[in-house]
Amino acid sequence: MSQFDYDLFVIGAGSGGVRAARVAAGHGARVAIAEESRVGGTCVIRGCVPKKLLSYAAHFHEDFEDSRNYGWTVGEARFDWSTLIANKDKEIDRLNSIYKKLLSGSKVDLLESRAALTDPHTVEVAGKRVTAKQILVAVGGWPEQPQIPGIEHAITSNEAFHLPALPKEVAIVGGGYIAVEFAGIFNGLGAKVTQLYRGEQILRGFDDDVRNFLAVEMGKKGIAIRTKTEVARIEKSGARLTLHLNDGSRMTCDAVMYATGRRPKSDGIGLAEIGVAVKPDGAIIVDAGSRTSVPNIHAIGDCTNRVNLTPVAIREGHAYADTVFGNKPWQVDHRTIASAVFSHPPAGVVGLSEAEARKDGHELDIYKADFKPLKHTISGRDERTLMKLVVERTSQLVLGAHMVGMDAPEIIQAIAIAVKMGATKAQFDAAVAVHPTAAEEFVTMRTPA
Ligand code: NDP
Repeated sequence: MSQFDYDLFVIGAGSGGVRAARVAAGHGARVAIAEESRVGGTCVIRGCVPKKLLSYAAHFHEDFEDSRNYGWTVGEARFDWSTLIANKDKEIDRLNSIYKKLLSGSKVDLLESRAALTDPHTVEVAGKRVTAKQILVAVGGWPEQPQIPGIEHAITSNEAFHLPALPKEVAIVGGGYIAVEFAGIFNGLGAKVTQLYRGEQILRGFDDDVRNFLAVEMGKKGIAIRTKTEVARIEKSGARLTLHLNDGSRMTCDAVMYATGRRPKSDGIGLAEIGVAVKPDGAIIVDAGSRTSVPNIHAIGDCTNRVNLTPVAIREGHAYADTVFGNKPWQVDHRTIASAVFSHPPAGVVGLSEAEARKDGHELDIYKADFKPLKHTISGRDERTLMKLVVERTSQLVLGAHMVGMDAPEIIQAIAIAVKMGATKAQFDAAVAVHPTAAEEFVTMRTPA
């Protein structure tokens, strides 16, 4: 009999922690998992899933308009926020209970309480001390806001999912994934949206063509993007907020949402005390196998601040469990990971941006297509689609694929297979187009820009 209560104790039942727990249990380990909030973590409870549901809701607005030139007469369209939120909550409850069933079905003990380490093998949880041979920290991240005067009047994405009513005028601070996605959601649902970003252009780190193109398309939909703009302080007067901006001007709104990045939630769980090395930004330092500076403690997902995406956390959790409990060692390849921004219109990217490829010293052929999608020839909507391939000139390898436009996330997922396999431009071209689609542009672009 083992000297420990469990073979594995997982702290945090988000996507990564749950996957690791279930896979380890499948390999025969005795596993417990602790969660202080709701099983499912950021993605299921207050991130990707509810965000995408809200994004669907926001798209109907344009669908009603676009249907007119196709012959439809749609009666007065009205939107009810509380119906959307109630149905979204029902779906999140359903997923939460599926996650719980998955854990119990895998014979993983769930402790619905906060857990903290007291030594490398002991966790204090729900007033008890529990020991485990291996510990996995999968505690995720949490929104971070600059501490300006009046910040207590601001919300983050956490609260945006539970607002009692749809605000009429919303300011969104930040230029990353969450800011851009919520700008599209609030705007599509009928709010007046101003996005305030401190830099030159939204989505720093993405391909410049994607950034510029998306900013124009968002503008056409009515989202006001103010770049080089920071909020110095927030004042509340009755139900209204006044934002004092760095250029001396001010603006008023009903709600201000900060999407200014997320911090690993590694504080207060005993890591520093037992010698687990953590960076100043809260990221738990791990090696390629997710091992921390304490050999029996591993960490995965957003709390390690590597690539903060759900499928990456899931894969890190799976690799960990296979390696430590399944005698099947493997590591996650963090290169060439596709991702999507569920903006309106959405963007999908895989591989290098043009600037990154040039910085790496590559000579490039750039292929670009910028066109009005067939749907909008009749709908009359002034919305365009951008596609771009970044190709290494000598080898003709496709280093990056980028798209802004309808269905970009779905399309880029398939393109990611080819890019990850190391396809050349000629191999892209050898695939016969599926006509008429937007995606066919990825295999029919013939002349470098
Ligand atoms: P990001 O790191 O993507 O963006 C943060 C934004 O806030 C940047 O524009 C940044 O500006 C700005 N910012 C940071 N600090 C300040 C400040 N003090 N004042 C003003 N602006 C500031 O974070 P998000 O919160 O949008 O998302 C967190 C992570 O979650 C993402 O990086 C992504 O990994 C993940 N995510 C993925 C999604 C998806 O896959 N679709 C959806 C949502 C989240 P600057 O550019 O100048 O640094």
